[in-house]
Amino acid sequence: MVLHAQLEPVYAELLMRNAGEVEFHQAAFEVLESLGPVVDKHPQYADEGIIRRLCEPERQIIFRIPWVDDRGTVHVNRGFRVQFNSALGPYKGGLRFHPSVYLGIIKFLGFEQIFKNSLTGLPIGGGKGGSDFDPKGRSDGEIMRFCQSFITELARHIGEYVDVPAGDIGVGGREIGYMFGQYKRMTNRWESGVITGKGLDWGGSRVRTEATGYGTVYYLREMMRHQNADFDGMRCVVSGSGNVAIYAIEKVHALGGKVIAASDSAGYIVDEDGIDLELMKQLKEVERARISEYAVRKPSARYVAGGSIWDVPCDAALPCATQNELDDNGAKALLAGGCKYVVEGANMPCTPRAIELFKQADVRFGPGKAVNAGGVATSALEMQQNASRDSWTFEYTEQRLEHIMTDIYKRCAETAEEYGKPGDLVAGANIAGFLRVAGAMDALGV
Ligand code: GLU
Repeated sequence: MVLHAQLEPVYAELLMRNAGEVEFHQAAFEVLESLGPVVDKHPQYADEGIIRRLCEPERQIIFRIPWVDDRGTVHVNRGFRVQFNSALGPYKGGLRFHPSVYLGIIKFLGFEQIFKNSLTGLPIGGGKGGSDFDPKGRSDGEIMRFCQSFITELARHIGEYVDVPAGDIGVGGREIGYMFGQYKRMTNRWESGVITGKGLDWGGSRVRTEATGYGTVYYLREMMRHQNADFDGMRCVVSGSGNVAIYAIEKVHALGGKVIAASDSAGYIVDEDGIDLELMKQLKEVERARISEYAVRKPSARYVAGGSIWDVPCDAALPCATQNELDDNGAKALLAGGCKYVVEGANMPCTPRAIELFKQADVRFGPGKAVNAGGVATSALEMQQNASRDSWTFEYTEQRLEHIMTDIYKRCAETAEEYGKPGDLVAGANIAGFLRVAGAMDALGV
């Protein structure tokens, strides 16, 4: 695919300014590719430099995180926060702790977050942060000291009206607690709106834990509805076994489908009875065990070390692990297995080539920035509850989430149609997400 002539220099500049940051290049190219018809229809967005401004983060923060392990050894990690765009509200986006983290990963995630947050219709800008710290095998005390050191530096850059972090890979309720506690000690303020994903007793929102997974499945349900299909008899494969995967499985089962496979970074399990969610939660949320343990406790399931989970034949695939986990080989295997729907629960899990193959084969494809927006949307609902010192019921909060996801699907589908790309939810999500941010940037001046 080629870019619109007016967007080529924008992309060339982005490549030059962000040398070697391949994930950011990939995420930006996909959006710019979609914006061709927008430039034709609204030439002022290109003329006024809105697209160029969007491609450059408003602020990038890189910092040192020194911490002491249980044996007394000092470690030094690197921390990042990319405050990408604040036209729609305070920067909002998660923190990722993973050894693969570097500036390019945080920039790609922050860039995606602008459009995702815009799609929710809520007042949140886009940002992302994290560290190359590897939490695997670390004790609770080590995790606490790392989180405290991380937020000690980040604290000066965040705030309920400035920038509101949350979790992502490697950052869950425990880590949010340690960071919020340290922020509270440092500032002597109970500023609950400074971070989301908090525990229910200390300012958190019901449904936040479940939101990304539930939202992913609501989006898939809308895609299926559009084709007069439902979950009855659907065989689904969900990659990953973290927060997103677990609650996606829960919602598929609640809506009448069956998830037969899940994975972690070491391998995958296949359980033809449908994944036993209680066992999965016990292993992953309580024991923090490897997924291979699932087949030890339930011998009728089988564990495949290494290998590709996409080899398991299914009707719908939900990649919920990490970026670029589903490449052209994965896509070919899914097509051979009869897959009809792919929805990205993770951020950018499918490579451009995989998406191309899905398009050619008429597989319905839902892009991450729309599909997994339920997580950040519920974070925004947490901010609303914090601002009004209120706490909503599970039912009400889930109703709001469901409504937001249905609306996002509808807008993606309608926008794709309006811009001459019927059925192309990638174009629909990118264009609809862009138009709201671009409108705000236009109104707020250069
Ligand atoms: N990390 C999640 C995402 O990728 C959630 C961010 C948030 O709640 O701020 O959207």
